[in-house]
Order: sequence, then C-alpha cells, then structure tokens
Amino acid sequence: MINIIFLGPPGSGKGTQALDLANFLSVPTISTGEALRKEVEAESDVGLMAKNYMSSGKLVPDEVVVNIIKNRISNSDCNNGFIVDGFPRNLSQAIVFDKMMEKLGRKVNAAINFTANDETLIKRISGRFSCKNCGAVYNSYFKPTKKAEVCDNCESNQFQSRNDDNEVTVRERLKFYQESAEDLIGYYEKKNLIYSVDALKSVPFIFEELKKIVQELQK
Ligand code: ADP
Ligand code: AMP
Repeated sequence: MINIIFLGPPGSGKGTQALDLANFLSVPTISTGEALRKEVEAESDVGLMAKNYMSSGKLVPDEVVVNIIKNRISNSDCNNGFIVDGFPRNLSQAIVFDKMMEKLGRKVNAAINFTANDETLIKRISGRFSCKNCGAVYNSYFKPTKKAEVCDNCESNQFQSRNDDNEVTVRERLKFYQESAEDLIGYYEKKNLIYSVDALKSVPFIFEELKKIVQELQK
C-alpha cells in the first residue's frame, strides 16, 4: 500500500502527474479542488458555501475539505493506497490528516513537492483547459491536443476552462500558497517524507522522476 500526497503551487502540474502516476500504481487520485468543483456545479450546500472562496482564490474552510477527504479515503477503492492532490494545504489540515490516517492504521509514505517559479505558473494556468467529457488536462501553450479541438483521450470536442484560472485570482492563489507552504513542507521534512521534483521540466521527465521515487519506496 502506498499513500502519497502532492504538494506544490497551483499550475505546477500536480493534477497532470497524479493521473499518470495513479494509472501506473493502480490507485485512485483524490483532488479536493476537483471534488469542490463538482459540489459547486451540483449547487449542493457545500458547493454554494465553497463557491465564493474558490472564485476569489481563498482556501475553503478546513472542516469542509477535511470532511471530503475523510469520506473519500475510507472508500474501499483506496485500500491499496491513493494519491492526494491539493490536500493538505496548511499545517492544521496536515495534522488532522495524520490523525485521520492513524485511526485507519495508515500513514503518508511520501510528500512530493513540485517546485516552480510564479511566472511559469501564471502562464501555465492561463493556458489550461480540460476535456468536458473525461477531464484530461491540456495547455494551449505547452500541451495542446494532438488534433485541433479533439480530446486525445476520448475524442470529445467539448472543452472547458476553470473560472478561477484568471490572472487576478491566480496571483491570490499563489499568495495564499506561499503563506502556508513553508510550514507545510517543514512539517513533512521533519518526518523525512519530502521528495522534491523540478516542475519546470517536461511532463514525461517528471513522470520518470516520480516512478523512480515510488519504486524506491516499494523496495
Ligand atoms: P496543478 O494540478 O498543479 O494545478 P495541472 O496539472 O493542472 O497543475 O497543470 C497546469 C497546466 O500546466 C495544465 O494546463 C497542464 O497541461 C500544464 N502542465 C502540466 N505539467 C506541465 C509541464 N511539466 N510542462 C508544461 N506544462 C505543463
Ligand atoms: P485546486 O484545484 O487544487 O487548484 O483548488 C481549487 C480551489 O479549491 C482552491 O483555490 C481552494 O479555493 C479550494 N481548495 C482545494 N483544495 C483545498 C484545500 N485542501 N483546502 C482549502 N481549499 C481548497
């Protein structure tokens, strides 16, 4: 069983790599951002509450995301492990998460930290779009679809952009990320769980790095 969390600023490629690595390991990925976007779309109570935080780039209150994670990791598809992308986002979430994992008799095996500079992140986020049907993530500058306006994965021609992927909100999101990153990374550093990857490298290069890390962990 291998339980991995992905840390790093918005746009650093966590979601992109989480999908590939999850396939490789045959474990699910859990993205709190994705789960919250679904709640917003469904106009559920959680979604209505989270919407304003998300559109202004702020963190949604801890108890909301903790609840999402708690429900999700106790699902049987997580029995062989999981990759969490976008959680924990601050020290208090990390501490609650550890307690939650302990109760389940599990622990975090690695915290992978994606590093990149703000200018690259802003460009990546401004070019991000995804397939409406299967969720595959593309980039108009760095990772366009192979055939114009056709998803490589499912051949749909319906795409969407996130409404928080505009430059003003991105700068806010980066600011909030910086505020808690040091504490969060320090917390996992003390536990010897941090593995850093250079998020400026290409998607396949980073994937190879991640495979090396997990193969080392599985020894
Ligand atoms: P995050 O989940 O960390 O917010 P994403 O995985 O959604 O980041 O990636 C942000 C954008 O950057 C997407 O449009 C994606 O296609 C693109 N991207 C991801 N990894 C890379 C990379 N290594 N090089 C260039 N572009 C990338
Ligand atoms: P992401 O998809 O990870 O970029 O997250 C999109 C938005 O969802 C963030 O800007 C936050 O508003 C919210 N969000 C996602 N994960 C968390 C979390 N762990 N804690 C608080 N808010 C979160």
